[in-house]
Amino acid sequence: MIIDWDIHHGNGIQDLFYREKKVLYFSTHDMLLYPYTGNLEETGKGWGAGYTINIPLPRDLHDADILHVYREVLTPVIQRYVPDLIMIVAGFDAHHEDPIGRMKLTESAFADLTRLLLHLRTAVNDPPILFALEGGYSDRGLVRSVRSVFKVFASPDLSGKNVNSETSAGARLVADARQIHAPCRVWVDT
Ligand SMILES: [Zn+2]
Repeated sequence: MIIDWDIHHGNGIQDLFYREKKVLYFSTHDMLLYPYTGNLEETGKGWGAGYTINIPLPRDLHDADILHVYREVLTPVIQRYVPDLIMIVAGFDAHHEDPIGRMKLTESAFADLTRLLLHLRTAVNDPPILFALEGGYSDRGLVRSVRSVFKVFASPDLSGKNVNSETSAGARLVADARQIHAPCRVWVDT
């Protein structure tokens, strides 16, 4: 399973596994940026139908919103899919100081996402998890973001879980994704 929080859509990864259910690809990104792909409607084809999950993000999204999206979508996905390996496309260009991403996330968002993923992983027999450093074009934003992820590695505190608050922006994105994915029934109850 590949989880891609880099602000650019991973069109190459998607193309590789678009007709494949042995690799589930989940991506959040800004479609106004290169490569301008990753519509909600791009959900996979053939055997891979439903195993590509794209959630394009608006630019005014905040930390709590993205955490809500990841929690609500990835909890059922990971519980049903039970991945043997989780790979994180860990780009940090959604940081608010990034000159290309121009989003509003702080380094805390990446810590929260990391904590969430480590927590979800414990529910499916602790598969290996790999974080691959990708984008990040503000030196200061990158340093702060990577450090916040490392701090979670050093002291995961998985019992504390994440703040369970729903946000309206996050809920809208989740509702749209569920609606689009309902016919595939890979992770959405119908
Ligand atoms: Zn990027």
